[in-house]
This record gives sequence, C-alpha cells and structure tokens, in this order.
Amino acid sequence: MVENKELIKVIEETVSREDVKYVIGYKRGTYGFQIKPAFAYSAETAKEFFYSPLCSKNLAIYPLLEEKLPLRRGEEEDKRKIGIVVKGCDSRAIIQIIQEKGLEREDVVLIGIPCKGVIEPKKIESRFPRQSKFVEVEEKDGNYVFEIDGKSQVIPKGELLSDVCKSCEYPNPPLYDVLIGEIEEEFEPEQFSRVDELAEKSLEERWAYWEKHFQNCIRCYACREACPLCYCKTCMADLLDPQWVRRSVNLSENTAWNVMRAFHLAGRCISCGECERSCPVNIPLMELNKFIEKEVKEMFNYTSGIDVEEKPFLGSFRPDDPEDFIK
Ligand code: SF4
Ligand code: SF4
Ligand code: SF4
Repeated sequence: MVENKELIKVIEETVSREDVKYVIGYKRGTYGFQIKPAFAYSAETAKEFFYSPLCSKNLAIYPLLEEKLPLRRGEEEDKRKIGIVVKGCDSRAIIQIIQEKGLEREDVVLIGIPCKGVIEPKKIESRFPRQSKFVEVEEKDGNYVFEIDGKSQVIPKGELLSDVCKSCEYPNPPLYDVLIGEIEEEFEPEQFSRVDELAEKSLEERWAYWEKHFQNCIRCYACREACPLCYCKTCMADLLDPQWVRRSVNLSENTAWNVMRAFHLAGRCISCGECERSCPVNIPLMELNKFIEKEVKEMFNYTSGIDVEEKPFLGSFRPDDPEDFIK
C-alpha cells in the first residue's frame, strides 16, 4: 500500500535534486474517477501528488512528448533528468524505450510503486455514472471501498480490476531508482482468457468477430496517442507518400490500421492496456496484443521490457530461431 505522505516526500526530494528538471506523477481529477497527470517543478508543487487504485494511466509516454525548442545562440540544452512515477507496466515501458534508444537510462529517475492492480475506468464509470465530484477509493480486505454521496460503497476487487492486471506477471517495477512501499508478493497470474476463448473459434468465426469490431473504428488514433511505445516521429498511418493505409473510414482501411498497429507493437507491447482503455468504441485491442505477446513468448522465448541490457525483439536474431513459418 502506497502512503501518500511518503510519496509526496519522495517527490519533494527528487524534484529538489539539482540534476532533476521536473517529476511526473498523478493528481486527483475534477470529477468522478478521473485522474490527471501531475508535473512538479518545485517541492511546493509536489503536495498535490497522490496515488490510488484509480491511477491506471501509463505515464511513460510523457518524457517522449517533451517539446525540444530550438536553442538561442549561446544557450545550452537542459539535460537534467525527468522524474517519473512508475508501476510495473510503466517501468517496463521505460525499459523497452531505453532498449530502443528512445531514452537513455540517465535521462530518467524512476520512482517505483509496487502495484496491486488498478481499477478499470470503464467498469467503475458504468457502475456509478455521472459523478460530479472526485471520488476517493481505498483497497481493503480484497474489496474497493468508495465514498459516494456520503455513503460507503464496497465492491469486490475482482469485479473492477483491469483485465490486464489479472494477467500481469510484473506488478513490481523491474527497474527503479527509489521504491515507495514494500515489494508486492509475486502471484500466479491468470491467463488472458479472452485470447484463449477466441483462439478456439474457427477462422470464419474469428474473422466475423474482428469484422464486427473493426467496422466500428472511427480512426481517432486515441489508441496510438495513449500508447507509451507508439512514439515514432511520423506514424506510418499519417504518411501520404507512400500511403500505407488510406484515411477513409471503412472496414478494409480500418482493418489495415488495426493490424498494422498491433504488428508494430509485436515484441514491444508491455501489456499496460492503455490502448484498449482509450478506445471510444470499445474495440478489444488487448486481444490482438496479447495474442501476439503469446506467440512471441512461445516461439522465441522473449518477453518485452524486463531488461535494459537486452536487445529489442525485432533487432535480434538467434541462429536457432524457428523458421518453419517461412515458406
Ligand atoms: S498491468 Fe500490472 S503493473 Fe500495470 S497496473 Fe496492472 S497490475 Fe499494475
Ligand atoms: S499496445 Fe496497448 S497495451 Fe501495449 S504498450 Fe501500447 S498501450 Fe500498452
Ligand atoms: S482508439 Fe479505437 S476507434 Fe480510435 S483508432 Fe484506435 S481502435 Fe480505432
């Protein structure tokens, strides 16, 4: 369990370091179950930082979004570090980005949080819609306890826990500089049952399933924007010459986009669930991601984002890699 007092103390200490530019974490949103990213540039601004099971967002994207303004003559680049609060999956995203040379290890200070899983925003919002004030929650004896309109609401954890957390193998951050709280005991993760159920269906049934979902895609690219590992300067989906995928919103182009997105994350996706969470039309994107993750693991014994020294999956080759799928 993360004590907010301890979290604020660590943020204050980190942002006060001479080699740190700012720290990214979470703060309470203005209504309902919404959490906002928080940025501390001084010890005073650290007070609003907070952590609860509602903090599902993966913050690893933010260091990559920082705008690098042109330097004036004689001005030097600010190379100080960025502090960032990381759960297991956020830490894995940073590891993956470091492997890919998107960031250097010395660019970041990682404030690790051993994770007990997060509440899926869509599940809780459908349970208690239209909350006009921010709702506090705490985890107690296998339940989530909410204070709503002066009444205490107790809901079993399993009903609101994000599906990705049920199958999470790395709730503790594999990489951190400071750890808040105690390492969580490793637990036996459930299989991602949605993938197995779908895999048992016939090819025709699976195609009908995806056709039904892909035709709803509105090509808003929220899945891409939320993903800490979709950070190419120019996305293939935006290129006009060559144009790999047309902008028309129809089944054919939507399928091309969704398959392309999933394949670009092969051996890179760290299963944070942000893409699926951000999809406004509820396309089950994690079923694609998890299917590919499973294939990569079974065929190449590779898991993304656990070791900064490891080479990226698509950038490495072993002479004994299976090749029987190459005709
Ligand atoms: S996927 Fe794992 S690390 Fe990420 S929020 Fe869920 S339990 Fe925590
Ligand atoms: S593809 Fe989805 S689950 Fe995978 S890293 Fe990106 S946002 Fe997270
Ligand atoms: S977030 Fe959903 S609707 Fe938007 S582009 Fe991605 S899959 Fe399509």
